[in-house]
Amino acid sequence: MGAYNLPMADIAELTADEVEAFRLRCQAVLEEHATGGGRDIAVAKAFLAAVNEAGLGGIVYGTEFGGAGLTKAHDKIWRAEKSKFPSMDSEFVISHGMCLPVMNDFGTDEQKKQFMPAMISGEHMWCQMFSEPGAGSDVASLQTKALLDGDEWIINGQKVWTTLAHKSDYGILVARTNPDVAKHAGISMFMVDMKAPGVEIRPIHQIDGGKHFNEVFFTDLRIPKDWLVGELNNGWNQATAMLMYERVAIGSMGGGDIRQPNFDMLAESARKNGKIGDPVVRDELMQLYAMETCKSMVAMRSRAEMKAGKAPGPGGSLGKLSGSIILRRVREIGQNIHGVDSIAWEQPGDVGERLNQHVLSSFQAGIAGGTDEIQRNIIGDRVLGLPRDISVDKGVPFNELKLS
Ligand SMILES: Cc1cc2nc3c(=O)[nH]c(=O)nc-3n(C[C@H](O)[C@H](O)[C@H](O)COP(=O)(O)OP(=O)(O)OC[C@H]3O[C@@H](n4cnc5c(N)ncnc54)[C@H](O)[C@@H]3O)c2cc1C
Repeated sequence: MGAYNLPMADIAELTADEVEAFRLRCQAVLEEHATGGGRDIAVAKAFLAAVNEAGLGGIVYGTEFGGAGLTKAHDKIWRAEKSKFPSMDSEFVISHGMCLPVMNDFGTDEQKKQFMPAMISGEHMWCQMFSEPGAGSDVASLQTKALLDGDEWIINGQKVWTTLAHKSDYGILVARTNPDVAKHAGISMFMVDMKAPGVEIRPIHQIDGGKHFNEVFFTDLRIPKDWLVGELNNGWNQATAMLMYERVAIGSMGGGDIRQPNFDMLAESARKNGKIGDPVVRDELMQLYAMETCKSMVAMRSRAEMKAGKAPGPGGSLGKLSGSIILRRVREIGQNIHGVDSIAWEQPGDVGERLNQHVLSSFQAGIAGGTDEIQRNIIGDRVLGLPRDISVDKGVPFNELKLS
């Protein structure tokens, strides 16, 4: 049974003494190992290895699968403590925030025993391969194929925008296994060895100078038959679960309590350059404060729902969408505060350079993990109960669709 589907009896409520003892244990590990490191993968791996060594890796996962075998209450305390320290493992947001819970929910015991321990300890990094050139918002239109040939699946096709594929050891892939049925019905989920022959990874160069994601090509890639994850042709349901984990992971990143990190950053900037007394800037900063406060509370609610045994639902889209809206506001307010300094600066590391970097990279927030428009559709349809979007290809077999 999945970590987020535990029976109520397993969600132990801790005594005040137990909470305090565990909090101190988390704090001691974090004080020793969460010393900063930004987005360096080697640093993240060393941090995760140390956390695992201290018995705090994969808190809610079973010990037989490499986890700590503790409760969601422990996980909540760990997250709350962790959010007080510099972020060490943000590069594992896909590996730990998405691939790990999906493996735990849908993998067989053999798969979990084989793959989860190295995932939890950070020894192996995993990536997510859903999007294709013609299948992003509409992932169900994917064209990558998996054909069974004796004891192996043969994979052919192309994925795109695969974050950290070049640093990953394994990936979760969705591919078409039955083209004769409607597009959502003929998809399955697999594990892929990213270093196997038949996998070619090409970097995509980003506007902010980074090379964080990739195109991935599969040419007659062979994987063992038992690397199918979950049921054959049930990949769409599993992919949807993974996307909800993604939205919760993105929307509640660092979330343990109520925080306003972007407000803090911009208020400090405004104080430094003398704009803090400007009534328009003050008004904008207060709006940001309110938005970040609401986002924290939505994140806390998502986490509380998961703690209560619910699988992440469409509410995850609220946190994801509000994070994107907040970053857009941060970009505008930051530029109002810094004026021309935000597009030209004298020394590397000047506030203008940092703000510019932030402005350029902020655009991805409204696309990654499902675009803002898609989150609005999900919220309208599944949270507010509005009529569904028109679907012209409903029930039409995949091989009769006209796809680009
Ligand atoms: C930083 C980053 C990291 C990513 N990492 C990964 C990864 O690791 N793995 C992975 O598989 N993918 C990844 N992606 C891909 C991401 O999931 C897709 O880019 C996203 O789902 C949008 O798909 P698309 O780019 O094909 O745009 P399209 O789906 O072509 O959308 C184009 C525009 O049309 C709008 N639109 C489309 N359909 C509708 C609709 N029904 N109603 C209203 N508007 C609509 C969209 O909102 C968008 O504005 C990443 C993307 C980014 C930016």
